[in-house]
This record gives sequence, C-alpha cells and structure tokens, in this order.
Amino acid sequence: MLQNRLLVRGFSQSNIGQRVRRGKLAIRDILHYPNPILGQKGEKIMAFDAKFQHLIDDMVETMYAAPGIGLAAHQIGLPLQLFIIDGALKDPEHPIIVMANPIICSQGGEVLEEEGCLSLPKYVDHIKRASNITMTGFDRSGNPFTLEGEGLLARAMQHEYDHVQGVLMLDRLSPLKRSLYIKRVKKLEKSRTHEHVAAG
Ligand SMILES: [Zn+2]
Repeated sequence: MLQNRLLVRGFSQSNIGQRVRRGKLAIRDILHYPNPILGQKGEKIMAFDAKFQHLIDDMVETMYAAPGIGLAAHQIGLPLQLFIIDGALKDPEHPIIVMANPIICSQGGEVLEEEGCLSLPKYVDHIKRASNITMTGFDRSGNPFTLEGEGLLARAMQHEYDHVQGVLMLDRLSPLKRSLYIKRVKKLEKSRTHEHVAAG
C-alpha cells in the first residue's frame, strides 16, 4: 500500500544525517506473534526524559531498518502507550511522528485496503479501517498535540493505536483467516517480513 520510493525518500531525507551524527543508536529486535507482550495493554508514558528520547531514537532506527512505516514500543518488547510513524506519510518534509498516550477523538468513513505488520511476518490481508481519524496525544517533548490523518496515514495511526492497546491486525481478521494464519506461524517464524507492502 506504500510505494518503495516513499520509504526510500523518508529514509534518505530525514534520517541518514541523524544516523551519522548520533552513533549511539541501536536496531532492536522486533517481536513476532505469538509473543505475549504484543497482547498487553500499554502503560502510559509518564516521563519524557533522556531515557525516553533514547528509546524514540532506537525505535526510529529499528523502523527504518525493518523497513516499516510505523512501529509501536510493544514491538521491541516494551508495552507502552507509544508509537512512531514515518512523517513522510503526512508530507515529504515532515519529521517523524511520535505519539505517546494516544486518544481517538473522532473517526469517519470506511475503507478496505491491504495491510501488513512487522510482527506478523510475510502476511498481508485486507483490513477495514476508518478512512479518516483524529487523535490527541503527546509528542517526543511531552507537548500535547492533535494528529489528523487520512489515507495511508489514517491506516497507520489505527494500526499503531491497536498495537498500544495490545491488539494485532490478526485480531481483526475473521476467525477462519486467523486460525489459518496461526497454523502457518510455525513455518514462518524464522522468516522476517521484507515484502513490498508497507508494514508497521
Ligand atoms: Zn504492526
């Protein structure tokens, strides 16, 4: 659902410089289903301190390395109310979107599109989502802000919001599709998703 060129653009314009300058970043392992952490409701972020900033940096590094267009803290083993989204989904020059303690204010419309998840390797399916959504939360400095999304950004926001509630894309499939996927998990568990479909 996202063109590769968009991933490349987001990576090259907004991140390579930072990657070179910092030098303390780490690519974290991404948890896969059925790791139980992925099913936990996230704890609220209470401190926007240096440790939090380091966590965000690692999440950004991990997301672009995957590659993905979004990442929740759950996916690197930390069940928190925290996710990031590639800012290029909003506009090409937009910095990375950091959302802590998100609350859905409004949503509307309905759209069925393909979706993937870094925690569900090599699996994509059509998931029904709201076509537009507004959330409030806190940015990486701890300042409250409102994020409005439509199209792919709206889809990514809902996907990552689900993650911080402990809900996976898998939970939104029909019982039959879910059971078929679970049967495939053992065969797939050693693989990582590097499909062309964007994932988060
Ligand atoms: Zn995901």
